[in-house]
Amino acid sequence: MTLSGKRAVITGSTSGIGLGIARAMAGAGADIVLNSFTNTDDDHALATDLSDEFGISARYIQADMSKSEQCRSLIEESGNCDILINNAGIQHVSPIDEFPIDKWNAIIAINLSSAFHTTAAALPKMRAAGWGRVINISSAHGLTASPFKSAYIAAKHGIIGLTKTTALETAEQPITANAICPGYVLTPLVEAQIPATMEKYDMERDEVIKKVMLERQPSREFATVEQIGGTCVFLSSPAANQITGTTISVDGGWTAL
Ligand code: NAD
Repeated sequence: MTLSGKRAVITGSTSGIGLGIARAMAGAGADIVLNSFTNTDDDHALATDLSDEFGISARYIQADMSKSEQCRSLIEESGNCDILINNAGIQHVSPIDEFPIDKWNAIIAINLSSAFHTTAAALPKMRAAGWGRVINISSAHGLTASPFKSAYIAAKHGIIGLTKTTALETAEQPITANAICPGYVLTPLVEAQIPATMEKYDMERDEVIKKVMLERQPSREFATVEQIGGTCVFLSSPAANQITGTTISVDGGWTAL
């Protein structure tokens, strides 16, 4: 199976799951647009490395997914956008009554509203090309809740609603829209939650990983960025032509509990 000739735009793709998805899509032959809000030599080098390793065309475009106009300009600057993968996301952990308003606004903007803006800008291009894929990275927390993550859980539930609506509005065209719901994947986003959780539960790092994080993941293993990337490649394949408006969990059984 090859995605040769297709261009995948992946938001928030300089680390973690986004970079893993970019590598999997490049491995399947897609041209890649990497994105984050920074503009460093390292950001651009990631694109050069992908291009050298996989023999595809790759570029890095700076755009801040908390800003509606930059979400839309990312898609405009990308040229073709055959496969849109809305992955950018941040986290903040706090009880609702202490949740900082600026954190709430940032999480809703980056984890949810950005996908509305990029999708709105990408759909006309997909319709013109006669083919398209929208893949939204939600979470097990898009299907179930945990305490202290109100903004994240609201955004991740919301993006599943946006996914379903996108699927219905494109159902009669060769365009699909689906959400992937990962359980815990050991990325910088998850690493950043470990110190506070160690303090909160008065536990060592390994205990936090096994007893708190993976306690809800029946496989007791992290999902990997390669598995999320492979799921994106599958959703972009002809086998997935009739899969639209749904969620695929990659969570070691979390949401089966
Ligand atoms: P990460 O922190 O490793 O990567 C996040 C990426 O988003 C980075 O490239 C970062 O630069 C980028 N980003 C952050 N703010 C941005 C902004 N304003 N504009 C553009 N880019 C921005 O995190 P990750 O764990 O790889 O998470 C990626 C996605 O997967 C997120 O949507 C997250 O909610 C979701 N997810 C992660 C897990 C997990 O366990 N790691 C589980 C379920 C879902």
